[in-house]
Amino acid sequence: MKGSECVSYYTILQNGLVIDPEKGGIERRDIGIIDGQLADVKDVLAQGINIHYINVDGAYIAPGFIDLHVHVFKDATTLGIEADLVGIEQGVTTIVDAGSAGYDNYQLLKDTVIQQSQTEVLAFLNIARQGLGAGLSELADPTQLMTLEEAKEIFAHEPQIVGLKARMSGSVVKEQGIAPLKHTRLVADALHKPIMVHIGNPPPYLNEIFPLLTKGDIITHAFHGKKHGILNEQGYLIEEAIKALQRGVLFDVGHGTSSFSYETLRKFKTSYTQPFSISTDIYINNYDNPVGSLMLTMSKLLALGFTLEEVVRAVTIQAAEAIGLTEQGTLKIGTRADITIFTFHDKPTNLVDSEGVVLTTNRVLQPQMTIRNGKVVFRQ
Ligand SMILES: [Zn+2]
Repeated sequence: MKGSECVSYYTILQNGLVIDPEKGGIERRDIGIIDGQLADVKDVLAQGINIHYINVDGAYIAPGFIDLHVHVFKDATTLGIEADLVGIEQGVTTIVDAGSAGYDNYQLLKDTVIQQSQTEVLAFLNIARQGLGAGLSELADPTQLMTLEEAKEIFAHEPQIVGLKARMSGSVVKEQGIAPLKHTRLVADALHKPIMVHIGNPPPYLNEIFPLLTKGDIITHAFHGKKHGILNEQGYLIEEAIKALQRGVLFDVGHGTSSFSYETLRKFKTSYTQPFSISTDIYINNYDNPVGSLMLTMSKLLALGFTLEEVVRAVTIQAAEAIGLTEQGTLKIGTRADITIFTFHDKPTNLVDSEGVVLTTNRVLQPQMTIRNGKVVFRQ
């Protein structure tokens, strides 16, 4: 990698292999940037002098990667990890904190993380008012749910909040069952915002959860390896899952400590072609093992036979559309120049899923350079 760290109004990224999810394919071409936005290379050249050239030496260039599920709220939860460590330093330009914060402590997330990070940090607001700040059974007490009035108020004032989070597993909801999701549904409908629903160990069961989800909602941990998941005993999607996909519900990986199984995704891949998003559910305890990073998670999917274009789409256009982002996840001229540059680390590497299953691969993505708003904010 050559090129200086200087910030220039006019930049050209040279000699990259560009993966443009909207155009398809991988092509060697240059990328222009003017004043923090993607620009036609001809328009940059027309400026004549004072152009900052960055030679990326055959590395891949893609829209900045988006991780829809992370936990970065260090001050209020014990699991929060440093945002830039899992963001720009891993080639991820936008991360979405998935429910660490709720109505009562969102301001602290904003003050201590969102406004302090070079990574763009967005949030799914937990329907529980303390988020994960008061333990991990946050939906067990119905008096602790955010009201519709509170939700309207906070969504109106906080543009970084992109949706709601509800964790629907037995240990979280306790005696409440499906009730917290019904309440989340009412709030989401009034706000026209998506719900990210975590699935795990029942109850509630998926045949209660999925019918409550609609176009634009996101099911994270979709490919976990626990009992009562998206697949039946024959390895096909359960009826409610098929219907949810048909309605436009999005599956999301949400790797996490215990929520990603190669076997589940392999079976899904054998019979279904619906696109999904790839996210990490990264936090302090799974950063070393088994999650690692978004690129490592993407590498696991490459090892399962997904193509490079597919895994890049899953963290760019797919993720951006899921939360209504138009400036991110794209290489369209005139949009914000958030760019991820990466190579392959060509050495046999063992990649483990949440079930302890190991795949050995030579193709591991490695971040080389991260650009936010047209500026180099990280380089290897
Ligand atoms: Zn999570």
